[in-house]
Amino acid sequence: MLPSDSPFQKKLSDLIRVIEKTLEPAQPAGLAGEITDFFENKSAEDQFRSSERQGLVGIVQELTLTLKEIGEPAGGLDEALDTFVGEIDKVHTLEDLEKIKTQIKKSALGVQSRVKGLKEELASAREMCESLQGQLERTEATSIMDSLTRVLNRAAFDMRIQQVVKDYKRFEDPCIMMVVDIDHFKQINDTHGHLAGDKALTSIAHTLRQNVRESDQVFRYGGEEFVVLLPKTGMKGARSIAEKVRRRVAEIRTHLVNDFYADREQRVEITVSIGLSELSKEDSPETWFQRADEALYRAKSGGRNRVEMESTV
Ligand code: GH3
Ligand code: MG
Ligand code: MG
Repeated sequence: MLPSDSPFQKKLSDLIRVIEKTLEPAQPAGLAGEITDFFENKSAEDQFRSSERQGLVGIVQELTLTLKEIGEPAGGLDEALDTFVGEIDKVHTLEDLEKIKTQIKKSALGVQSRVKGLKEELASAREMCESLQGQLERTEATSIMDSLTRVLNRAAFDMRIQQVVKDYKRFEDPCIMMVVDIDHFKQINDTHGHLAGDKALTSIAHTLRQNVRESDQVFRYGGEEFVVLLPKTGMKGARSIAEKVRRRVAEIRTHLVNDFYADREQRVEITVSIGLSELSKEDSPETWFQRADEALYRAKSGGRNRVEMESTV
């Protein structure tokens, strides 16, 4: 080892310092330093701006697509928005974006007012639908209703009986048909006038409705003949319902004399004859009705104001 204060040692240290300095990267100084700093800052700034611009372009693109979705049903907006989408790709400055933003805002306001218009149109269309539906329901109701007596009409009977016979083949729920015919009705018309006859028809229909269950259906089959369908009812029950109806109709004559006929002294007998038949598996609507009608015929020939059941032989 050389002593540290030897002149050779000192020279050696100087030499090492010179070598080390040569290897250090040179820091640009003065104007060169300023130019380097400017470019470094500019590049960082550009990088920032470009990522910021990308972000903004992304937001505008998303906004445009959303507007497009909303605007589609409003119509006519598609083309304008397609143009914006094309222009977004060409955006270079914030002013360009600002311009597109203004255009989009204008279009959005347009969509808003068109959507408002559509909402109003929708509300009035809904109102019209509801009123048409109401009208349809009323029309349907009147097309199955007898206008004089307010019970179901013959068309409704023809539809209903088909359904009942069909259902019976599957479920076999007992069902009775009751055919009700006014006795000597022609005479009532002839003696007291057609209007009084109409009043009697209305009263009898009302009496029928009042004396059967809500689920039983009353039809005006024709002229002065009514049919009542009594579902989930056996013959015994039906017979007592028919007897009750027969008695109640016989009672309403006093009411008619007092209220509807000009001559209060005149006694008017209003009675009905009733025929009953029970639905069976072999029945068609016609055969079922025919058996009730035959029973009715027997009630008439047996003296009227009576209830007869179908013959079991
Ligand atoms: P029966 O006891 O045998 O049933 O005799 P009827 O007089 O009741 O029977 P007929 O079939 O001879 O006469 C039925 C009458 O019903 C004839 C018709 O003028 C009358 N009629 C049918 N429809 C109406 C109507 O809507 N209003 C009025 N007032 N009469 C009607
Ligand atoms: Mg009659
Ligand atoms: Mg008749």
